[in-house]
Amino acid sequence: MLVTMTTEADRPSDFIRDIVAEDLRTGKYKQIRTRFPPEPNGYLHIGHAKSICLNFGIAREFGGTCNIRMDDTNPTKEEAEYVRSIMTDVRWLVDGWADNHLGGAPFYASDYFPKFYEYAVDLVRTGKAYVCDMTPEETDAYRRLGKASGFRDRSIEENLDLFVRMKAGEFPDGARTLRAKIDVNAANIWLRDPVLYRIRHASHHRTGDKWCIYPMYDWAHTLSDYIEGITHSICTLEFEVHRPLYDWILDALELPEPRPHQYEFARLNLTYSVISKRKLIQLVNEKLVNGWDDPRMLTISGLRRRGVTASALRALAYNIGITKYPSMTDMALLEHTVRDELNRTATRRLVVLRPIKVVLTNYPEGKTEELDAINNPEDPSAGTRKIPFGRELYIERDDFMETPPPKFFRLRPGGEVRLKYAYIIKCDKVVKDEAGDVIELRCTVDLESKSGGPTAGRKVKGTMHWVSAAHGIDAEVRLYDRLFTVPEPDPSGDFKSFINPNSLEVLTAKCEPALADACPKERYQFERLGYFALDLDSTREKQVWNRTVTLRDTWAKEAKK
Ligand code: ATP
Ligand code: MG
Repeated sequence: MLVTMTTEADRPSDFIRDIVAEDLRTGKYKQIRTRFPPEPNGYLHIGHAKSICLNFGIAREFGGTCNIRMDDTNPTKEEAEYVRSIMTDVRWLVDGWADNHLGGAPFYASDYFPKFYEYAVDLVRTGKAYVCDMTPEETDAYRRLGKASGFRDRSIEENLDLFVRMKAGEFPDGARTLRAKIDVNAANIWLRDPVLYRIRHASHHRTGDKWCIYPMYDWAHTLSDYIEGITHSICTLEFEVHRPLYDWILDALELPEPRPHQYEFARLNLTYSVISKRKLIQLVNEKLVNGWDDPRMLTISGLRRRGVTASALRALAYNIGITKYPSMTDMALLEHTVRDELNRTATRRLVVLRPIKVVLTNYPEGKTEELDAINNPEDPSAGTRKIPFGRELYIERDDFMETPPPKFFRLRPGGEVRLKYAYIIKCDKVVKDEAGDVIELRCTVDLESKSGGPTAGRKVKGTMHWVSAAHGIDAEVRLYDRLFTVPEPDPSGDFKSFINPNSLEVLTAKCEPALADACPKERYQFERLGYFALDLDSTREKQVWNRTVTLRDTWAKEAKK
């Protein structure tokens, strides 16, 4: 097998990677195997992206593999649609980066139901588990009080008989459970004889009606890790309290080494967002957003649709790092990471979002010039293109003010600006409609001010983008803003009352003709306006653009005000 290991210098360093490196050094494991174990009850979000980058990153850096395992032990909730979306999202995120470390995808915990059952029978046989007839409520209450169940001392024979009959479907839902016999008084509540199996007469999306007893999380998770030969089972901090049970299960079954070990890290939290599946599902079901892949959602599919690249998400995951301390990551860091990449890679284009017409009164009617424009100043290999220029143009409505404030360097009556890649123009006359709204600007153009011309070097304060009216193409543009108006919409619980009513604005823009050939994989900077990507709603007749991110952090300015 080809083992690719990155050097220490080009991999991030954190306490988990330190442990992995040490375990390889001491020979505790010959090869590393991690896993990403989503429960298929929703779409993946940016928090999952952090976990995917960590697990696949470790596999990639240490020459191991990473399994995707559907944690589909709960019969009522899972749906095939979620499995499909999870696979799409994971593959997209690791494509070309760690996809060759994908350990045969995907695995399903439900495939191990027969093994889980055999292990449970072993546990009963060795007197380490018993069938309990208490209701779920009684069980909870007894565990809280540290009280032993009256069924705790059943004989092994009786337990075996009852467990087999539980599986055979003899008892109704909730009538009995299988519980581990550990310590009813343990300081750690998870060790107070936890339930391993419960009865649920429900169809499962993969096993159908074959089973009517279903394993609980800890039993299924620990054994899935063991069965798959996982070495480092990495999860978020809330599972730290489950770790003693994880280890107890491995010990109680006397499973031979190599065994998996669980490690916990702090989950990703982001300001101005909610990212728990439970909350995301409410936004979707209550139609507060347009589905799981709404570009305002911090789901992987939403971010992808918005134009965020997989490499930018991986860069974010690496930048925030892995720690043991719960913390809140600033949304601005996500935006900055995206901007930072797109600044290097995006193709520049001229687009006017809110057009107002400009007529160049001294420019010949019917004349068109092809002017040179730079595709990407950060990347000379991107070359140049021609953009058409004519007597009638569109400029941005906001770039003109009739009575501007002092430091306004864009167009005003009598004022001059440079049109990017073109000429200097001067505003002579403002044309208004009956309501008094400005509908057109009459300007004169300094015909000698073009690049290479006699007055090319003439200094004017503002440079503006524009599109030729005769050549511009119409496109729908969707401008997004943060979905929530406050940094922490969560604590009060009524996160929905903090939804930003202006999180989506839809416009019809004028685009330079080169955009007609735009490709969904490519990213574009509409000069002065932000970074954009084609939306999947685009058709041959009409393009739809998503603004992935603005050019600058507009929220930082707001915060200062
Ligand atoms: P949620 O709380 O959003 O419902 P979950 O933990 O129930 O998420 P799972 O599908 O069970 O979702 O999670 C799969 C993996 O992703 C787990 O290992 C979990 O620890 C990890 N994970 C979930 N949310 C985050 C997060 N915000 N940051 C980092 N890892 C996460
Ligand atoms: Mg979960």
